[in-house]
Amino acid sequence: MRALLLALIVGLLAACGSVTATAQNAATATSVATATSSATATASTSTNATVATASCASPATALTELTEGPYYKANPPQRSTITATGVAGTPFVLTGFVLTKSCAPLANARVDFWQADGNGNYDNAGYTLRGWQLTDANGAYRLETVIPGLYPGRTEHIHVKVTPAGGQTYTTQLFFPGVSQNSNDSIYAANMLINLSSASATPRTGTFNFIVNLG
Ligand code: FE
Repeated sequence: MRALLLALIVGLLAACGSVTATAQNAATATSVATATSSATATASTSTNATVATASCASPATALTELTEGPYYKANPPQRSTITATGVAGTPFVLTGFVLTKSCAPLANARVDFWQADGNGNYDNAGYTLRGWQLTDANGAYRLETVIPGLYPGRTEHIHVKVTPAGGQTYTTQLFFPGVSQNSNDSIYAANMLINLSSASATPRTGTFNFIVNLG
């Protein structure tokens, strides 16, 4: 008897609630569909960005322009390997992209590097550890060099001039994380730090994206 009464109450409640339940289901379905399509759009955008530009979140902050210093030498050779046999220093490969603030890759941007060797010496007679290259169709560059050494007054750094095709030149310097002299160097800029691989990797590798001051 109690079971019959219970079944009757449940049946009545179900009947009363049927319209509401349908409306709620419809609302839930719509909101799920909206959430799903928006999640899909976000995922596919971020996947594309990852493929095209490594890590870049729009709007990105433009690089910090820093002094050229006294050791730039005009007319360096065009090459992506600026080290050579016998050059002092730990082999180092730097890769990255030249991008706009909205993370658009810039092909054919000129990237001109120069630096000291592992002992902190520049080649001012020749062009060792000097060279320029153009970014590829994806805006990518690749530099084969050594980790520069310290010289009086300066922490470890790599000089670079970045010139988008037909655009102005941005002169700056890159720095290495974990170097104690960084904090004593008046030119040092924390947002110009290379993302460096672990010390056990051979060769050492690092990445840096040059964000130029273009939309
Ligand atoms: Fe220097």
